[in-house]
Formats: sequence, structure tokens, C-alpha cells
Amino acid sequence: MKLLDGKKVKEKILNDLKKEIEKIDRPLGLVVIQVGEDPASSVYVRQKEKMAELLGYTFRHIKFPEDVTEKDLLIEINNLNNDDLVDGILVQMPIPKHLNAKVVQNAISPYKDVDGLTDINMGKLVHGEDTLVPCTPKGVMSLLKYYKIDVEGKHVVIVGRSDLVGKPLASLMINNHATVTLCHSRSRDLAKITKKADILVVAVGKPKFITEDMVGDGAVVIDVGISRLENGLCGDVDYDNVSSKCSYITPVPGGVGPMTVVMLMLNVLEAYKNQMGN
Ligand code: NAP
Repeated sequence: MKLLDGKKVKEKILNDLKKEIEKIDRPLGLVVIQVGEDPASSVYVRQKEKMAELLGYTFRHIKFPEDVTEKDLLIEINNLNNDDLVDGILVQMPIPKHLNAKVVQNAISPYKDVDGLTDINMGKLVHGEDTLVPCTPKGVMSLLKYYKIDVEGKHVVIVGRSDLVGKPLASLMINNHATVTLCHSRSRDLAKITKKADILVVAVGKPKFITEDMVGDGAVVIDVGISRLENGLCGDVDYDNVSSKCSYITPVPGGVGPMTVVMLMLNVLEAYKNQMGN
């Protein structure tokens, strides 16, 4: 069994990225909008800020109170869309229920949508066009590419169909000629399906959900799940019992997680290039 080491790959991508951004005559600009004080969101924003600062990006963290109106939020997003020094904008999810997350997300210019979650960018992804792609699925593809694990013709089983992970990953896999099965909470005989996977990607959010009997010998297993337990972070895969069956597996932490933030930084560069071309 070999480890898919997200930390190592992240460092390599960071180094390449540093060389690319040295050629640009101004700092790249990333804005993260946060509504309310959700502690987990604050941790994620801080992670983004740290990596942005490391790369010399201009990072702005705009905080709104929990009771902000949708109108005020949309006005701010519109101002940022029109600010030439802002290359990428993202709204940290989740946002309070009185705000329509779809409306807020779609207010971001597709050129600056570094989370790749606007309907336009999602649509382009489904159509196989070049576009800004959600960071976690992009990170999964990048990790596989680094380890020269070709997906073409392989049976890829994805467990979890969220807009953030499962659905865009299914599109990326299809665009790269994999045969994809996308499973969710209503899938029947899940173990029978997961066992047939050449590559199994799990994004469910339930600690140790994938057990030894659900994985075929020699499978590549990518664990996207992150749950915070009393004794630390835990993935969706029962790593101790599953890893010996795999050809490759991601650890948690240190697998997909480190890839996600660095993909965001890559997306900011892509967003900059998009806007230069338009
Ligand atoms: P989500 O929106 O809650 O989606 C979870 C998916 O799992 C849903 O599609 C759900 O099915 C499915 N599911 C739930 N129970 C199931 C079951 N018993 N059998 C089969 N499928 C089941 O979660 P998410 O945002 O995709 O995140 C998933 C996990 O990845 C979380 O732990 C999250 O923290 C982690 N994550 C990590 C990163 C990273 O950077 N590493 C980034 C994003 C997310 P239904 O659609 O039928 O409800």
C-alpha cells in the first residue's frame, strides 16, 4: 500500500505557483466573505488567509453580522465584481438560513468565482469546458495526476453527491474518461457497488463509514471526509482496517485536505488570467 501524500503534493504545487505569480506585476487579490461567527468557518478562513499571505496575495476578509440582509450582501459582491484589483471572491459556507445561498453564490462574477460554484461554472464543467472548478474535486484530480494514477477507462465510485464534492468530481472524472458510479444515502447495496471500484472516493461526513468489507483488493481509496472527534480528525474510511487492502490510500489528515486550499490559490491565478483575457 502506498500513501497519497497531500502535504507533499501541496508543497510541489506551491513552489510551481510561486514561480508563476512572480511574473505578474501586482499581487493577486482574494476576498473571502463571512457571515456570522461560525467557529469552523473562522478556522477555514484563517487557513485560506495563511496560504494567501505565504504567496503574497492581497487577502481581504469581509465579515458581516449574522442578520445582514441579502440586499446588503449582494451590493458588496457587486462592488467586488467591479473592483479590478480583486481577482477571486468566495462566500464562506454555510450562511444563515434567511439568505438564499444559491442567489448569493450566483451573484459572484463567474470570472471571479474561485469556488467554482456558480451555475455558469458548474454548467461549463458538466459540458467539459475549461472553467473554474470547485477546489476539493480539483484537488482529488491533482493528487491522482501527481501519482500517475490514470482514471481513463477505470470504474470510479464516488460516495456522496454534494454540489461541493461529489457532483463536480463525477463530471471531472467523466471528462477524463472514467466510468462513474455516483452513490448517495438512497443507493441500495452500497457495499456491493463500492467493492467493484478501481478508484473509490468517499465524501459522506461519517467517521469510518467505509469498512474493510466494502473495498476491493488493490483499490485506490480517496477519503475526502473530515470529522472532528475528541481525539482529533477522522476520515470517512476505517483507515486501520482498509489500508492493507488498497494499492493507494489518502490519510486523514494529510490527504485531500491540504490539496483543497492550494487549489483555491491556483483558482485565484486562473481567475486573474480569465479577467486579463476578457
Ligand atoms: P454533504 O453535503 O453533507 O453530503 C454528504 C453526502 O453523503 C450526501 O450526498 C449524502 O447523500 C451522502 N450520504 C450520507 N449518508 C450516506 C449513506 N449512509 N450512504 C451513502 N451516502 C450517504 O457533505 P460534503 O460537503 O460533500 O462533505 C462530505 C465530507 O467531506 C464532510 O466530512 C466534509 O467535512 C468533508 N469535506 C472535506 C473537504 C476537504 O478539503 N478535505 C472539503 C469539503 C468537504 P444524500 O445526498 O442522499 O443526502
